[in-house]
Amino acid sequence: MSIQTSDANAQDLSKALSLIAAHSHITGLGLDESLQPKETSQGMVGQLQARRAAGVILRMVENGTIAGRAVLIAGPPSTGKTALAMGLSQSLGKDVPFTAMAGSEIFSLELSKTEALTQAFRKSIGVKIKEETELIEGEVVEIQIDKSITGGHKQGKLTIKTTDMETIYELGGKMIDGLTKEKVLAGDVISIDKASGKITKLGRSFARSRDYDAMGADTRFVQCPEGELQKRKAVVHTVSLHEIDVINSRTQGFLALFTGDTGEIRAEVRDQINTKVAEWKEEGKADIVPGVLFIDEVHMLDIECFSFINRALEDEFAPIVVMATNRGISRTRGTNYSSPHGLPLDLLDRSVIIATQNYNEQEIKTILSIRAQEEEVEVAPEALDLLTKIGSETSLRYASNLISVSQQISMKRKNGGTVEVADVKRAYLLFLDSSRSVQFLQENQSQYID
Ligand code: ATP
Repeated sequence: MSIQTSDANAQDLSKALSLIAAHSHITGLGLDESLQPKETSQGMVGQLQARRAAGVILRMVENGTIAGRAVLIAGPPSTGKTALAMGLSQSLGKDVPFTAMAGSEIFSLELSKTEALTQAFRKSIGVKIKEETELIEGEVVEIQIDKSITGGHKQGKLTIKTTDMETIYELGGKMIDGLTKEKVLAGDVISIDKASGKITKLGRSFARSRDYDAMGADTRFVQCPEGELQKRKAVVHTVSLHEIDVINSRTQGFLALFTGDTGEIRAEVRDQINTKVAEWKEEGKADIVPGVLFIDEVHMLDIECFSFINRALEDEFAPIVVMATNRGISRTRGTNYSSPHGLPLDLLDRSVIIATQNYNEQEIKTILSIRAQEEEVEVAPEALDLLTKIGSETSLRYASNLISVSQQISMKRKNGGTVEVADVKRAYLLFLDSSRSVQFLQENQSQYID
């Protein structure tokens, strides 16, 4: 069968949609070259231990040594578990597929649980396909002479690097040095002044013998050979296994990539695609790029899903599965037993666990001020202090949500615009945090339906 691929990058679309605005300030893990976390960098604040651990994962992903394993990020609510996964994805770069889903989504899709998981897995595996396309002629960015002396004769190697490629010419005779920014095309003649090493482009129409003579013996000429400058350029594009599945699935077709309505894909289609992709890999036409599948609220999955994941991790094409949970010892759904984080022990056993810790006041303050900047909200210093206090006493997420609410309130004021203490206070009174909400419910229990 002929397998089709497409540039339609549905992966990007879903990636963009799943990059929840709350994390838009995060552009990486904020690590230095030796993978040590900087206190505040790339939107990431504190959580040094977890970021250091994520750096190790990053290295393992890059080295391809993490296949078949899972990462569990465990920690109290709003301690940056999702932020960490986003940071990891950003550090991996845009060519590495990243798929984000919440455990609970599995139960709300029209697909069976295993089909939904299979699709999520295959969305997270990139296939980098190499194709040779159009002829290129580029602008010369560097001309370099490699000097060497053989048998009393100076020999040189002229390397012409254009924006698209590199061509090497062997040169005899005298040494030459030079640099040019000119655009050299195949067939062009370039002259190299032996004394100064200056390289000049003479163009294709340069009438060889007569003009050469006119320029004298101090000039050396090189004609850029047609065949050599006109090399083909290899174009590489990355699609996900899931995209290849959908495009080749007779019942769906590639428009389904845009609607997201891909339905169930037959096992035979996937088998054929796996075989084909393995062939391409063998022939050097494609590389497999294992990406990251992030499953938030992983404790919401049930035992069937967990055993599926266990098996899928052993697959030839497995992405790195990063899971997050804020549960302690809790019941594994679909069973009667409890386990750490609600995950079955066999899956836990395969996982490396990264713990996130609660933030101190200074870290909360820095995160809130980054969020305010990101949302383009001006916050007065005392108002930021109050938001910080609220953040430490309730939760970072609640305080973060109050930023935009406070801004709305501030805009109603005369001379409003900057968030002041009074605006934060009003926002705090208008919207309950979870513990005040519980208290409110307890006090007004009788008015609610049980
Ligand atoms: P939950 O368990 O409730 O899902 P979580 O641990 O996934 O929470 P996040 O959603 O990542 O927490 O964090 C809450 C908010 O704080 C987000 O806007 C996130 O981007 C931001 N945040 C958390 N930790 C950091 C950090 N270390 N640096 C910068 N921003 C952070």
